[in-house]
Amino acid sequence: MKNLLWLQGGACGGNTLSVLNASDPDLFTFLFTHNVKLLWHPSLSLDNNITQILNDIISDRLHLDILIFEGTVIMGPNGTGMYDIFAGKPMIEWLRKIATKADYIIAVGSCASFGGIPASEPNPTESTGLQFHKKDCGGFLGKNFKSRKGFPVINLSGCPVHPEWLLTTLLLIIEDKLSQEDLDEFNRPRLFYSTTTQFGCPRQPYFTYKISTKELGHREGCLYFELGCRGPYTRSSCNNILWNNQSSKTRVGTPCMGCTEFDFPSFNFFKTEKNRSGIPKRLPLGVSRGSYVTFSAVAKASAPQFLLRPLVRKGKGDWIE
Ligand code: SF4
Repeated sequence: MKNLLWLQGGACGGNTLSVLNASDPDLFTFLFTHNVKLLWHPSLSLDNNITQILNDIISDRLHLDILIFEGTVIMGPNGTGMYDIFAGKPMIEWLRKIATKADYIIAVGSCASFGGIPASEPNPTESTGLQFHKKDCGGFLGKNFKSRKGFPVINLSGCPVHPEWLLTTLLLIIEDKLSQEDLDEFNRPRLFYSTTTQFGCPRQPYFTYKISTKELGHREGCLYFELGCRGPYTRSSCNNILWNNQSSKTRVGTPCMGCTEFDFPSFNFFKTEKNRSGIPKRLPLGVSRGSYVTFSAVAKASAPQFLLRPLVRKGKGDWIE
């Protein structure tokens, strides 16, 4: 039996909602099948015994296998943590003690991983991530922190995290199959964060031939050139492990907003920022400006005709534009 505790800091609860959408298996079947006891969860637990649970863990009367933290660590005002009182104390006081007792710690969502939306400037709550503040390793627990099993905080970024990324990570931990080499430079499992959002996107042919979509929701065209898609430089598996088992933002014609990266949120979600020559300021991962310009000219000139016209028509002779 593994004990799992879920705590929440500065959060909207989106990661909780996301994991409740897990379907194959659902969360409760997963916990039952893998013999995991959910000690407490802020929205799912009926018992009001959290103070007892926390004290039992701190005094080693109760073993904590996995701590999941959702949301930012709220340090304000002035580093006291008093903006987030939980079970009679600032959450940061509990967290400082509980973190040293957990075999593994998982930060679910971009807020717990990097600070996310609450840590955006001017950051009035003095929010930070568990072990990162934006791109800097450190955060609340400090860069040298290791959980009892010798792991850093395992970051599952995303706004929210995909339920399958969370349950698969839990399974790897439960079965003792996760090693530190499986984590990237931001301590995210490479399994989900080694490829960009673009991998698996059905708009990839349009990206290749530099054909832009006309507006949000259109079936044809790529969203990178005008509508701010961050898919070519955001690491996620959103187009390989689909949302609700069927879709993704780019599949329905909405740009990837880069929510799995440390610099989320940006403030220009639906517009591609360009330089004076009209080249996007942020290029696909690993592509130089020179090769982008050269390749774009060749690609545009070689675009196949069928990609230049609508793919589907509404009725006879009536193409969707
Ligand atoms: S829509 Fe976005 S993710 Fe899809 S091919 Fe274009 S840039 Fe890549």
